[in-house]
Amino acid sequence: MSAPSVTPESFPFQAEVSQILDLVIHSLYSHKEVFLRELISNASDALDKLRFRALTEPELLAGDAPLEIRLVPDAEEGTLTLEDSGVGMSREELIANLGTIAHSGTRELLESMKRAGKTDASFIGQFGVGFYSAYLVADRVVVESRAAGSSEAFRWSSDAKSGFVVEPIERAKVGTSVVLHLKEEQKQFLEAWQLEELVRRYSDFVAYPILVQKTERVGSGDDAKTETTFETANRASALWQRPRAEITEEQHAEFFKHLTHEGDEPLARAHFTVEGTQVFTALLYIPEHPPLFESQDERRGVRLFVKRVFIMDDCRELLPPWMRFLRGVIDSDDLPLNVSRETLQDSQIVRTIRKQVAKKVLELLEELAKEKPEDFLTFWRSWGVSLKEAVATDWESKERVAKLLRYPSSKAALAAGSVVSDAKGAYEAKDAADAKDAKDVKLDALVSLEAYVARMVEGQPGIYYVLGESEKTLASSPHIEALAKRGYEVLFLTDPVDELVADALRSFEGKPLVSAMRADLKLGDSAEESSRAAHAKELEPFLARVKEVLAEQVAEVRVSARLTDSPCCLVVGEGQHHAYLEQVLRRHGREAMPARRTLELNAEHPLVASLKAEFERDAASPRLVEWIELLHDQALLTEGSKIADPNRFARRLTELLQLAARAVPGGAG
Ligand code: ADP
Repeated sequence: MSAPSVTPESFPFQAEVSQILDLVIHSLYSHKEVFLRELISNASDALDKLRFRALTEPELLAGDAPLEIRLVPDAEEGTLTLEDSGVGMSREELIANLGTIAHSGTRELLESMKRAGKTDASFIGQFGVGFYSAYLVADRVVVESRAAGSSEAFRWSSDAKSGFVVEPIERAKVGTSVVLHLKEEQKQFLEAWQLEELVRRYSDFVAYPILVQKTERVGSGDDAKTETTFETANRASALWQRPRAEITEEQHAEFFKHLTHEGDEPLARAHFTVEGTQVFTALLYIPEHPPLFESQDERRGVRLFVKRVFIMDDCRELLPPWMRFLRGVIDSDDLPLNVSRETLQDSQIVRTIRKQVAKKVLELLEELAKEKPEDFLTFWRSWGVSLKEAVATDWESKERVAKLLRYPSSKAALAAGSVVSDAKGAYEAKDAADAKDAKDVKLDALVSLEAYVARMVEGQPGIYYVLGESEKTLASSPHIEALAKRGYEVLFLTDPVDELVADALRSFEGKPLVSAMRADLKLGDSAEESSRAAHAKELEPFLARVKEVLAEQVAEVRVSARLTDSPCCLVVGEGQHHAYLEQVLRRHGREAMPARRTLELNAEHPLVASLKAEFERDAASPRLVEWIELLHDQALLTEGSKIADPNRFARRLTELLQLAARAVPGGAG
């Protein structure tokens, strides 16, 4: 590496940074004071990092500089300076950290915001622009910094228009000063009382003292002089160490923003201390939405502290993997200060913490589901996939988590007055009317397994579901006809992983989960079984012919017990995936051998009867072959699968339509 030059060197900003700066500078965002929170947050992180490094390099703290943040307004110069005694930045770090943006998705975000015409408040509010928010209030920013362990110091300065300049300086203390040359109309940030108020509002939880400099004229006449004093504006105790009742909603919201760097509010939280053989305190939040970018991941997750000292970000070892949605802090009294990711992995202490956290968070979710169903639904929409992962992977929590699953269903949709308008009139009007009056239907047409079981009709043997791309297609799926006729509710699973969830769960409260799309579906009553057997016998030669025509495409052809209105459907055999999962796997480039499904025919359907008649007239009828293939294509379409030859399908359909049109009085021909 070449020695850094002693003269000022100019650098351009990375393109994304220029774009962000441009937005920030011209922003009409009304909450410009957020710059203070962002810069204090950076200072607090820098102090955390220094204290952490000092665990192994105690000499870094030997200079005795107190770990603190100072705000120094200077009315004459029109500047506000934020000083911290944190870890500081080297020349390279200044260039990299304050000239580029590491988050890989920033460009896409900027593009999509521009397209949506949302380039102002929502951008700054949601994304959190960190250091660059300084330009909300300043037209020129100077950063002076000396990295811990180094004797060199550097100045970074920029008016945000033409890149930045870096040059070496003399600096007595380790740490960073950010000097804001305030815009003319932002001079209110020179008032000490304003700064104090903002610190209390936005940064009270910061664990280090934040001192505000005050200037007073004392004495009079010729003796008058200016005296400066510093006063601590925050309580400087870690938020999670304070009694629960003393923490306000606003403080939680601010702390959450500090942790996540996003504009959201937390949806729910758990704040608890576990005592006994292990002592730890946790303050955990569930965000309302998933992050805009997975790539910002290092910030996500839960921070580990040991005896109030920051140890690491995103400490996944402390949580069951499916609880990745949690943000917050866990502060252990028992872990050694020199823990590393490696030692965490087989630590008994960590295992105990993980278990306790899992328990508390499950309780939190259960309470949310019970007490605040609207919020729980928000959780379900944002993080439902995590619960599904829990059912499929965490056998200890599986049963409890299963109670939190929520699905649309044939009855829930009716109840909420949505979707099933074309559901073949199967669920009686009475059912719908009853449900409409019930209080519990507003919640967006979703049902829990508990509610499902509670309203099962007498004699219903299991919990039924169908799997496919959309609620709407499932609601009119031929597979649910006979179930609907019996008044059985059917869950509509539209997420491909739901098949894995159902497989992992197998049953709920003793009721088996049954796919209405599987070949082995049994609806039970013996009278129907025997009529089906009779039909099967009678249709045998015809079925054999159908099988012959579709030899390459289906495994079996048989009489159906699940159809009432449709002529046919395809069902999956044992060990086969549902068609939907297969499609999705294929879409994601996974090898999914197209499973040959079983074609079921509705023996009582007039169309089937006509085909049979044609077969009996002429077993080798070429028309019959075409019709059978059409029927199969149609079954594929209703389950959302692709048909092998759409052109052939369309051609045949046209021919049939022409025939039909001719039959209409006054029709062509
Ligand atoms: P973010 O904090 O979201 O990463 P910022 O733009 O606020 O983004 O800051 C970029 C980086 O600059 C920080 O991650 C940190 O490494 C560094 N930085 C900012 N302020 C300070 C400071 N006061 N002391 C030390 N490093 C800092």
